[in-house]
Amino acid sequence: MNLSDISVSFISLYDEFIDYLLENKKINRSKISKPTKLGEKIIDNNLSKIRFSEFIKYFEYVIRNRFPEEILHNFDDNLSDLRIYSTYFQLADIMKKLSKYAGKYSATKNIIVINFKDKDLFYSIYHELFHMASTDRMITDRIQTGFFVYKNGIKTGNGLNEGYTDLLAHRYFGDVGSIIGYPLEYQYAKVLEQIVGQEKMEKFYMTSNPGALVRELGKYDSEDNIMYFIRAIDNIYNPDDNIIVKRNIIENITKSLIQWFIRKTIMNGENIFDPIVRRNVISFAWQIPARVVNTDSSYIDIDINSIIDQVVDEIYGQNRNNYPIR
Ligand SMILES: [Zn+2]
Repeated sequence: MNLSDISVSFISLYDEFIDYLLENKKINRSKISKPTKLGEKIIDNNLSKIRFSEFIKYFEYVIRNRFPEEILHNFDDNLSDLRIYSTYFQLADIMKKLSKYAGKYSATKNIIVINFKDKDLFYSIYHELFHMASTDRMITDRIQTGFFVYKNGIKTGNGLNEGYTDLLAHRYFGDVGSIIGYPLEYQYAKVLEQIVGQEKMEKFYMTSNPGALVRELGKYDSEDNIMYFIRAIDNIYNPDDNIIVKRNIIENITKSLIQWFIRKTIMNGENIFDPIVRRNVISFAWQIPARVVNTDSSYIDIDINSIIDQVVDEIYGQNRNNYPIR
């Protein structure tokens, strides 16, 4: 590994950054004021010792050591012309929408935008670098990054993609302060990975192969149900849905995860009525969030045990012979 090969431009190319934001309809040009210099802000945030290049070198060091070379081709392709911008207090405040985010990655332009509003948000760079490392820019008829696909105006897999991006950033960079921006999606991705297996899940993500993920889950369910599950995670926080629809979405996500785990257990030749296997099922299911905090701070509580019972009933029907699962 030769770290000196990494070329990253540190940009005060204000106009190009603004073009990016305009193109993505984040801002209205008339409302923009000129930001202060990047260097000054870094010093203000006590980040003078930390530079983008150090983060990227460390990112490359870790992923080259932890991932097999053959799943790093997107990373290799994108690293050479990656650009990083930072946004500033004034600008971030004006752009309400962007200021919600710690960072953004543009898959079409291979640009990371980091929001300096809070110095902790700087650590979202690992999350954004995973987006970069999992974006397949060789595909031209659609945007494909990690588990996310954008084609013909339809976005699919954003929720799972964000959750799994958080998971990887947390797994490999949690010790240096990576933050979790999508806690619920992170939990669902984490539980799903236990069904798929870490090695496969990381490979499907890094090589941006959501089709392979769907095929893998196809061992346990129909493609329609798997697609429903992926879209359900996209729609958890859909502001147009009322509480009944939201509850239905959360219950369906929970049920799919439990169903797939139980089917996998059965396919492995295990008897789910065996006390040890039963305990595994229950401890798996209880990692799924049982309480979801809504955007208006209300709760949606999920009865995990009754969903387990429901799934077992559906699989075993009359053959269950009154065996309790719990
Ligand atoms: Zn993200």
